[in-house]
Amino acid sequence: MKIDDLIKQGFKFNKGLGQNFILDTNLLSAIVNDAGIDNDSVILEIGVGAGTLTGEIAKKAKKVIAFEIDDNLIPFLKETLPSNVQLIHQDILKVSHQSILDLVEGKKFKVVANLPYYITTPIIFLFLESMLPLDSITIMVQKEVANRMVALPKTSDYGALSLAIKARCDSRITRIVNRKMFIPPPNVDSAVVHMQIKNPYDEFLSKVIKNLFLMRRKTAINNLMSGFLMNRQKLEAIFNELGFNLMIRGEELGLEQVKNLARKLA
Ligand code: SAM
Repeated sequence: MKIDDLIKQGFKFNKGLGQNFILDTNLLSAIVNDAGIDNDSVILEIGVGAGTLTGEIAKKAKKVIAFEIDDNLIPFLKETLPSNVQLIHQDILKVSHQSILDLVEGKKFKVVANLPYYITTPIIFLFLESMLPLDSITIMVQKEVANRMVALPKTSDYGALSLAIKARCDSRITRIVNRKMFIPPPNVDSAVVHMQIKNPYDEFLSKVIKNLFLMRRKTAINNLMSGFLMNRQKLEAIFNELGFNLMIRGEELGLEQVKNLARKLA
């Protein structure tokens, strides 16, 4: 029991680093299954913790590149992780795309993680807004964030995150995970989301998506005026051409409509 061993060695959970670990082997192998790992897979894991998920991934994958920020975990991990795991003692948000590309040796890879929740969105964007040879992302996140990730237009959960994911991936919630499954238990339930990459990164489309949701209560035109420094008349002409109501808001637009808008704005 890796977590018990760690606690015996005097390890204290760091709430600020989002340390809620998983012990249950059924849940760990279910996450590995959701990620579609096979013996050819190169996996990038974010947040090793006690190494329980890392160990399950390593049983199936060819190689695991595993990031952990917490100094207190490193000596224990160096001793206990299997040989096909490359431990990187670094803050994932400070790692460049080039370093990731070097680590995976330019090959296709999958991201798998029980994420530290305080940085869920920046981590998702770190990978989606890149040309990295990414195959899929399978992550445990707060249930409420998972709902936003897979939300459909015209719902309260729909926003820039849902659209940015839709622009690049087929995504689905693979399981809901009760808070009691974690040590220590967080205040909310969680969910695993699997995102299969299907489209390359489009930087301009990404900019349009972000600007559409700059201020949630503003109309799309008002948001785009500030984001693209365009005057109202020009934007109204584009909206009329596309058959959009001039008062429409970002949350009412589906991906195809946003793509059409991006073509006109480019
Ligand atoms: N994978 C383990 C599991 O499932 O039991 C631990 C998951 S825990 C939710 C998140 C882990 O991410 C913690 O071990 C934490 O120290 C680490 N972490 C937090 N912020 C990080 C960052 N910026 N870069 C890399 N690791 C980070």
